[in-house]
Amino acid sequence: MDCIFCKIIDGSIPSRKIYEDKFTYAFLDIADDVDGHTLVVPKKHIRDIFDLDKLTSEHLLTAVKMISQHYVEKCGYDGVNILHASGEAAGQTVFHFHFHIIPRKTDDNINCWTNFPGRKKTLDEMLEVLKIN
Ligand code: AMP
Ligand code: ZN
Repeated sequence: MDCIFCKIIDGSIPSRKIYEDKFTYAFLDIADDVDGHTLVVPKKHIRDIFDLDKLTSEHLLTAVKMISQHYVEKCGYDGVNILHASGEAAGQTVFHFHFHIIPRKTDDNINCWTNFPGRKKTLDEMLEVLKIN
């Protein structure tokens, strides 16, 4: 399978590793956007959230929390944004599941929330469409 992140995990593509355990690999994103932009990925090839199993999600989220805590407690950051895209429609470009960690400092003026177009339906209309039970 031709997957960039699988190749990073097996070492055939170089990466700047932040953390690794049996299930998880974390490394710096090459994007020239924000200092400390980090990707956290399962070692197992999982395409997106629709493909994610319970055990992998537990390991992954545990690592995301640990790395975030490390950034805040040891690296001088004040908070983190955790970003994720599943599916082309959502902007996913690498189809190996990943979380982005964006380390944040107070007053860094980074806007992690896009300029949304504004809601077109009422909350109750959306509730009717989306509710599960
Ligand atoms: P997404 O658009 O959410 O699928 O995110 C994919 C991310 O992978 C982007 O932020 C890219 O900058 C990042 N990326 C792609 N190739 C590499 C690479 N070789 N090393 C590190 N990050 C990468
Ligand atoms: Zn992969």
